[in-house]
Amino acid sequence: MKHFWVHFLFILLISFNSFAQKPDKPTTSEIYHHLQKLNFLGTALYVAAHPDDENTNLISYLSNHEHAHTVYLSMTRGDGGQNLIGSELRELLGVLRTEELLAARNIDGGEQRFTRANDFGFSKHPNETLKIWDKDKVLSDMVWAIRNIKPDVIINRFDHRTPGSTHGHHTSSAILSMEAFDLANDASAYPEQLKSTSLWQPKRVFFNTSWWFYGSQENFEKADKSNLVKMDVGAYYPDLGLSNNEIAAMARSQHLCQGFGRLTDRGSSDEYVEFLKGDKPTNNDLFAGINTTWSRVKGGEAVGEILYKVQDNFDFRDPSKHLPDLVKAYQLLQKVEDDHWRTLKSEELKNLILECAGLYLEASSESGTTTPGSAAKIRIETINRSAQNITLKEIDIIGASSKLTPNTALSNNEEKNFEISFTVPENTNYTSPYWLNEVGTLGTYTVNDQSLIGKPETPAAFVARFVLNLAGTDIAFDKPVVHRFSKPDKGELYEPFAVLPEATSKIDEKVLIFATDATKDIQVKVRAGKDDVAGKVALDHPTGWTVTPANIPFNIPQKGQEVTVTFKVTPPHTDSEGKISPVITIGNKKYGKELVEINYDHIPRQSILLPSEAKVVRMDIQKSGEHIAYIMGAGDMVPESLEQIGYQVHIIDPNDIQKGSLDKYDAVVVGIRAYNVVEALKFKQPLLFEYVKNGGTMIVQYNTAGRWASQFENIAPYDLTLSNDRVTDENSEVKIVAPGNALMNYPNNIQKSDFDGWVQERGLYFPKAWSSEFIPVISMGDEGESPSEGSLLVAPYGEGHYIYTGLSFFRELPAGVSGAYKLFANMLSVGKSEVKKESNVKG
Ligand SMILES: [Zn+2]
Repeated sequence: MKHFWVHFLFILLISFNSFAQKPDKPTTSEIYHHLQKLNFLGTALYVAAHPDDENTNLISYLSNHEHAHTVYLSMTRGDGGQNLIGSELRELLGVLRTEELLAARNIDGGEQRFTRANDFGFSKHPNETLKIWDKDKVLSDMVWAIRNIKPDVIINRFDHRTPGSTHGHHTSSAILSMEAFDLANDASAYPEQLKSTSLWQPKRVFFNTSWWFYGSQENFEKADKSNLVKMDVGAYYPDLGLSNNEIAAMARSQHLCQGFGRLTDRGSSDEYVEFLKGDKPTNNDLFAGINTTWSRVKGGEAVGEILYKVQDNFDFRDPSKHLPDLVKAYQLLQKVEDDHWRTLKSEELKNLILECAGLYLEASSESGTTTPGSAAKIRIETINRSAQNITLKEIDIIGASSKLTPNTALSNNEEKNFEISFTVPENTNYTSPYWLNEVGTLGTYTVNDQSLIGKPETPAAFVARFVLNLAGTDIAFDKPVVHRFSKPDKGELYEPFAVLPEATSKIDEKVLIFATDATKDIQVKVRAGKDDVAGKVALDHPTGWTVTPANIPFNIPQKGQEVTVTFKVTPPHTDSEGKISPVITIGNKKYGKELVEINYDHIPRQSILLPSEAKVVRMDIQKSGEHIAYIMGAGDMVPESLEQIGYQVHIIDPNDIQKGSLDKYDAVVVGIRAYNVVEALKFKQPLLFEYVKNGGTMIVQYNTAGRWASQFENIAPYDLTLSNDRVTDENSEVKIVAPGNALMNYPNNIQKSDFDGWVQERGLYFPKAWSSEFIPVISMGDEGESPSEGSLLVAPYGEGHYIYTGLSFFRELPAGVSGAYKLFANMLSVGKSEVKKESNVKG
């Protein structure tokens, strides 16, 4: 089965794909398919909020059946959320998901765009989302997208009329789409955009509905469908040898970090869109009443006359025969005034010319990375695999002002190679995701260059422009400079050619907690971006902190090599927090970036430059007890965090729990979602409760209500009912409802201010009902909702204590939130205030 899957994937990749910088090598039937697309002048825009929201069935149908120019506008890059294949989270996850979307579009034939909105985490309501996103900026990006893409039809994935029924990002994407539909053609809206684009009125907007929104399939069957357009997204494409839903499943399976690898579907399948606004279609056709032929543009008819004929008489044995006609069409297309269609169709037509001629043009660098000021060597490969007369006139490396003028004929199937060497200009921008270059807000990236907004990736630093003469006409073909290499165990590989700093630095631990005055050794890794890098590194730090030595010299002979230097960092006596950041000096230049690489087989390698830094926190924290047993659930960084404040954390396998085996621990902590994923807990629950009964402390962190790994009587020794209640606003007000409770007093005094500076959320899946033995300690709620007292519950049981908490310690502790540390230390110390007061250790 696996073998089949891999084989199938391989076929698709070679037929469709140019991702991972890999060149397209289409068969004639695929070339014909591209020709059909060239001859359709219509555009569809699909709008949703996240990577994976998009309906690939419909995107593939629009792109491959309608042959429309099809764009998926994802409001965000999916920075929030989980990663099933690696450790990338937040902005790095956003980079990974961006590339997965591009990989998906490479398969379904769509194009990918974004706004500046950041996926900041779960949001209950669009009102909250649009406040955090900076509605005006994101709406402006939506209008910008419509004015640039000029869609005839817009399809919203989500319903703008049902706020609160799904993720606030989802509804917001639809609300903004409806507003932008009206604004894109309004010259008074975002007038500054009109310097580089023009007004546009889409014809109509739809909502991508389904039976699900009608409660049941029976209800949907009975429903009035006069406002719906139906499409069979299971169509079979003989020229591709694939069903539309097979393509869609392959595209969807690119979302690997979200675990979307899946089997393919085949066969007829109806998809519905509901007409919302604009010009209502008169029949079952999204593009009804829209001229999608070449005659829609002035001067296009003559182009169409040639290209429709080529399509009708397409020679599947030798498509190069069509080159003279294609070149003629290209000449005529250059005279078309409408620059939107001229630009879009010129690119498609040039691609078709390359494909029909079997022309292979490649510019690849010897090395995968370079630095400004370094020498670069580019290998140029050209070959014409047709009988047509083609002359290679010029190769220009854009970005390096370096040019070759071979002026040579490319004869049939004879490879011609060249080499271009140049010095990378000092002012070349580094290769890093453009949206991460400036500091953004929680909800929006900062992008100052309007021309970049919406682009999926940072444009390549160097592009090779090949000027060819075909049938008497000069045509320029652009190819980004890539890095081509091979690995014995993987074969030929392509990567982006990246421009990086001469040196980067990294502190592995991103949050360093100082629970005492003691000095800590902090290691800084310095990595060379080129050979023979020598300089010194210093550590910027907040006032009150001491770092020695002031700087450390280093010398790295080889590019890519890393050295580690160690600084001694001493905190102040009192609470303090800030950032330490390594600063590298080489000659008179300073470097302060960390290089992160993302490398998976299904996406091209990504180089991301982030500010090199770590958060340092001096917190005066008291704790009682020392040895903590930790039972891992779905995975969290709580053990590492507790070690930072001096606990000894022992990860235990629940299968090993025996009668009395836990007695040596001061507390047992159960990791997030353990009861959802660890089956063995069902059998060990009585032993855990017995441990508590005998005087132990057991802390259970959040679990998802109802999704248990196995059936068991109760998560707690008393009745406790979990719910879906969560508090998503990390700044929401917290009330201490049991101020006298030990959790608020011992050994650390907890104030309201200890709930300041929390990140992402307060907590989730709070219990909604509990037996009277439980004492609620704090209360909190999102704006407009009644507060919950279920976030932190403590109950005495026998001689010990049981604590259940849905508070997001798994986020707050790794982020270095000192109030969360104090509260957790109190939870671990509960019950020890009387017996161990004398042994209360500081730090
Ligand atoms: Zn979503």
